[in-house]
Amino acid sequence: MASYSQYLTKDQEDELRAIANAIVRPGKGILAADESIGSMEKRLKPLGLENTEENRRLYRQLLFNGSDELSQYISGVILFHETLYQKTDDGTPFVEVLKKKGIIPGIKVDKGVIPLAGTVGEATTQGLDDLNARCAQYKKDGAQFAKWRCVHKIGATTPSHTALVEVAQVLARYASICQQNGLVPIVEPETLPDGEHDLERCQKVTETVLAYTYKALNDHHVFLEGTLLKPNMVTPGQSQTAKKYTNEDIGRATVTALQRTVPVAVPGVVFLSGGQSEEDATKNLNAINQYQGKKPWALTFSYGRALQASTLAAWGGKPENVPAAQAVLLKRAKANSLASVGKYSGEAADDSAAQSLFVANHAY
Ligand code: 13P
Repeated sequence: MASYSQYLTKDQEDELRAIANAIVRPGKGILAADESIGSMEKRLKPLGLENTEENRRLYRQLLFNGSDELSQYISGVILFHETLYQKTDDGTPFVEVLKKKGIIPGIKVDKGVIPLAGTVGEATTQGLDDLNARCAQYKKDGAQFAKWRCVHKIGATTPSHTALVEVAQVLARYASICQQNGLVPIVEPETLPDGEHDLERCQKVTETVLAYTYKALNDHHVFLEGTLLKPNMVTPGQSQTAKKYTNEDIGRATVTALQRTVPVAVPGVVFLSGGQSEEDATKNLNAINQYQGKKPWALTFSYGRALQASTLAAWGGKPENVPAAQAVLLKRAKANSLASVGKYSGEAADDSAAQSLFVANHAY
C-alpha cells in the first residue's frame, strides 16, 4: 500500500501544467514588479519621490499600461499585494490591464526574510501560517502563479545544513499549498552574490541548494510539471576580483549546476537578476541559452532590478517622461526575450544598462 495519496486531481494538474507552460513559452519571461512597500522606498527616494500609495500606483501604471508590444516579450508579471488591487487612472484594475494584453498576473506571497537564530547570519522566510487562505483569495482575484523568495549566504561555514534543510522545507510547504489552490509556485532559493567566493564555489553551493530543494519538493509530493524554478545564475561573488570570468564561463557553470540537480519534469527556469547590471543579466542569459549541452527546460528571465533600473531612471517621477520610460522597458524586455532564445547580440547596450545594481544583503 502506498503511504501517500495524490492531493491534486488530474484537472488540477492539467491547469497547473498549462499555466507553467504558458509562462515559459519560447521568447517570453517574467517582469518581477513585486517590490514590497519597503523596497519601493529605495526605488522612489532617489527620484525625489515620496513612497506613497499613489506614487507606487503611478509607477506600476507606467510599467503595465504601455504598448501591447510588451506581451511579445513578457508572459507574466509578479505583483505585490497592494498592486493586485490597484487600478489605472481610468479605473481599470491592473489585473485586467495585464490580462487584456495576454500577460498572466502572479503574486508574491512570502512575508519576508527573517534571521535563523543561532546561525552565522543565515535566514529563513516567513508567511506560511495563513498562506492557504491567502492563496485561495488571490486565485479568486486573478492571480495564476505565486512567488516565495528564500536566501542563502555563501561564507566560510555557510550555507549550513540547518539552513539548507529549513529553506528547502519552507519552499516545499509553500509549493504544496499554492498547488492545492491552483497557483503555480515559483520556487526561489536564491544564493546571494555577496562575498569573495569564486565561480566554482558558487556553482557547488548552488548545486547543493538545488539538491536539497528538489529532495524536499519530492518529499512533499509537489507536482513538478506545475512549478517553475527561480534560481540565481552561477556567478563569482561581488567582491571577488582575483579571477576574470566571461559570460560563457557563467553560462557553462549555470547550466552544469542545473543539469546536476533540476529534474526534467520542471518546465522552466526563470532566473533572478541578483544585482547584475541590466546588460550583464541579458548577456549572461544569452550565454546560458547558447551553451551547447543538455537543456531540457526553458531558460528565461524573471527580473526585477534588471528590467526596471533604466526605466525608473528615464521616468524620474515626471509625468511627461512616461512614454520615454515605457520605451526603455520595451527595449530591455525585448533584449531579454532575444537572450532567452540565445539570439541577443548587444543591441540594447548603453551606459544606463551597464550600471551595477548590486545591493549588499538585498531584501525584496
Ligand atoms: P532581481 O531580478 O532584482 O534580483 O529580483 C527578482 C526577484 O523577484 C527577487 O525575488
